[in-house]
Amino acid sequence: MDTFRFVKARDESHAIQAASQSKTAQQGAEVRFVAGGTTLIDLMKLNVERPSQVIDINHLPLGNVEKLQDGRLKIGALVRNFDLAHHAVVQSEYPVLSQALLAGASAQLRNMATTAGNLLQPTRCVYFRNTAMACNKRAPGSGCSAIEGDNRTLAILGTSSNCIATNPSDMNVALTALEATIHIQNKTGQRELPIDDFFVVPGSTPQRENVLEPGDLITYVTLPASRPGAKSVYLKLRDRASYEFALASAAVVVDVVESKFNRVRIALGGVGTKPWRSRAASYSAFSDRSPFSRASLIAWMIAGRSTAFRRTNSALSISAPRAVIGMATIAEKTVRKEGAPLRRKNKAPALPGPTPTYFTGAAQCWQVSRCNDCRS
Ligand code: SF4
Repeated sequence: MDTFRFVKARDESHAIQAASQSKTAQQGAEVRFVAGGTTLIDLMKLNVERPSQVIDINHLPLGNVEKLQDGRLKIGALVRNFDLAHHAVVQSEYPVLSQALLAGASAQLRNMATTAGNLLQPTRCVYFRNTAMACNKRAPGSGCSAIEGDNRTLAILGTSSNCIATNPSDMNVALTALEATIHIQNKTGQRELPIDDFFVVPGSTPQRENVLEPGDLITYVTLPASRPGAKSVYLKLRDRASYEFALASAAVVVDVVESKFNRVRIALGGVGTKPWRSRAASYSAFSDRSPFSRASLIAWMIAGRSTAFRRTNSALSISAPRAVIGMATIAEKTVRKEGAPLRRKNKAPALPGPTPTYFTGAAQCWQVSRCNDCRS
């Protein structure tokens, strides 16, 4: 571990000024903010992160959760994951966020980890964390050891021939389904971005995971006002019951009006290079003919969590194991179908959003067994 200069930020301007000296805000940044430090310190010990300056931002006034007059929820960048998961408004109006936070890490880590830190959580790709191995994200141009290596937990959506690393955060999946907005401050002022535009896929620059530039400080996250009758849930499939990252997960948010789904938002975790907003799966939740029939199952499961629904239709109460199978199937169905034209006979609109990148060359493509639409 290299020596570094440790600075306590007096205020936001001080933190931003210091961070502006860095050449990048992405992998390899010379200046890093630290709050909980639950990942940064690990990566510094591994020599994956080697900042010359670390700025402690724990004393900035960014630690509150606040309901705004227009109904939105404002979450400070330094709100700890534990506090956010157990906040009364989050539990009652945004249960998917509480569930996602509690599905992540361990109790000790949730006590330390912050909202902004979780947003910026680096991949868990084992080659990224091992400086003896080639990794385009850590050392651009060195190659990707994962493509023909141990990639069981890595991404199948949004990949490129340079990197297939998964975004590991549970919280980010819930925030994506909730259509969160990220608020950023820098020397020139403030800007805000939909979370879907905050993260970027690796493409030819795998060292870049988001749009942050030197001197950018995430100050808070806002969630749209929750709608009456909205239901939401987070489901996670993993190798063991606790302290483990997702093999596949799904955050589902449904607006229910007069016992009917009015709007469905589905985001997938553990399968994408960024938290993956699946508009195809969301749309298909309305259609019985949908190729994503399991998406409907998930949405039904949400309804099954509602006591009112259970009283009127016991068939809607679906067991957790079945729901998890459905959630995993969503991911697989999405992989197979989202990049191809949907074979619909109903009036489905053109689907916005990025098209997954597929490897070319069968020797490189570990997705073949999972992906019937592989172009190779
Ligand atoms: Fe590095 Fe990405 Fe390849 Fe993992 S998948 S070794 S992070 S380039």
